[in-house]
Amino acid sequence: MSSSVIDFIATEARFGARNYEPIGVVLSRGEGVWVWDTEGNRYLDCLSAYSAVSQGHCHPKILAAMVEQAHRLTLTSRAFHNDQLALFYEEIAALTGSHKVLPMNSGAEAVESAIKSVRKWGYEVKGVPDGQAEIIVCANNFHGRTLGIVGFSTDPETRGHFGPFAPGFRIIPFGDAAALEEAITPNTVAFLVEPIQGEAGVIIPPAGYFTKVRELCTANNVMLVLDEIQTGLGRTGKLLAEQHEGIEADVTLLGKALSGGFYPVSAVLSNNDVLGTLRPGQHGSTFGGNPLACAVARAALRVLVEEGMIENAALQGARFLEGLKDIRANTIREVRGRGLMLAIELHPEAGRARRYCDALQGKGILAKDTHEQTIRIAPPLVITSDQVDWALERLATTLTQDFS
Ligand SMILES: *Cc1c(COP(=O)(O)O)cnc(C)c1O
Repeated sequence: MSSSVIDFIATEARFGARNYEPIGVVLSRGEGVWVWDTEGNRYLDCLSAYSAVSQGHCHPKILAAMVEQAHRLTLTSRAFHNDQLALFYEEIAALTGSHKVLPMNSGAEAVESAIKSVRKWGYEVKGVPDGQAEIIVCANNFHGRTLGIVGFSTDPETRGHFGPFAPGFRIIPFGDAAALEEAITPNTVAFLVEPIQGEAGVIIPPAGYFTKVRELCTANNVMLVLDEIQTGLGRTGKLLAEQHEGIEADVTLLGKALSGGFYPVSAVLSNNDVLGTLRPGQHGSTFGGNPLACAVARAALRVLVEEGMIENAALQGARFLEGLKDIRANTIREVRGRGLMLAIELHPEAGRARRYCDALQGKGILAKDTHEQTIRIAPPLVITSDQVDWALERLATTLTQDFS
């Protein structure tokens, strides 16, 4: 490593809160599926900023929309109307078939906003006694890092020493519809769940799970809140992951790729009932729905559809998964995925996934370990067949490498 690289890393370590453990690479440029470090080395980005850069780095059309809007108007606050918000609403509602939209910034804010909204719906529409609303969530969930959210995490690292936490959450196993049925009470207002658990290591529920979940929620007047912040917007080869089971959530949360990685933009999408309970002064965000965010999100959604990225995710995802299955390495315990949301789970004896990610960096691939034993593979949705094959070759060599 050159001295300049060491400098960036050391300076971060000296001044920054050490709440991340980054791979030892300092990036300075990106284009499409590629990123470059400060020394000019090129890498295939197989993380895509946790799926926020699905449209590829620095997509020219999103960039143009952002620059153009930044020259005109960036922030008005919601105290005034702006000429981008209505267009954003119209376009995202048409695309997703939603009735109401609440724009926020980070994913965690969208989750918090949904929690507030379904509770309010529970009291004002469903008739739950005040203060008694219950929300069911799943073990090993990841919905963000705010206090409200980490309070119902089951990961000791995530919640440890951050309490006390808010009550009103029940935790059930993921992928177990019978457990949901048992957990529902007359005070249950919502079931908050990821269609595929991303941070838990790309955990795909059994086929038919969400069909059953949908039935149970409908039968019990429980709002099904799907956190599609990571799975949504083409990542799994469909616009929304719910489409794999042909169901519709009552509330859908989007973030990450909603801005193509340019700017934090998130949204709560719902039917009329849930977001309809929010009245002026009851919820808000200074930056939520600002014209810059709306212009960026509009462009990010447009290129996703117009450039066939969702179909490409399905096609290349299938190719990638087949290729991973063909790798004969005794380090691999399982490969799984849907669309371009893929994971390689290693045998415990293979050592920590982090070592393999470090080795992949040396071969020009940036990937991130999750939960010790799993390497997550989630490249931008613009990846080509040649690039998939290029990555597979390097993954095969790395995974058959002996680290002992
Ligand atoms: C990333 C993520 C979030 C949180 O989004 P932030 O923008 O980091 O707050 C919430 N839910 C899921 C499923 C995510 O992957």
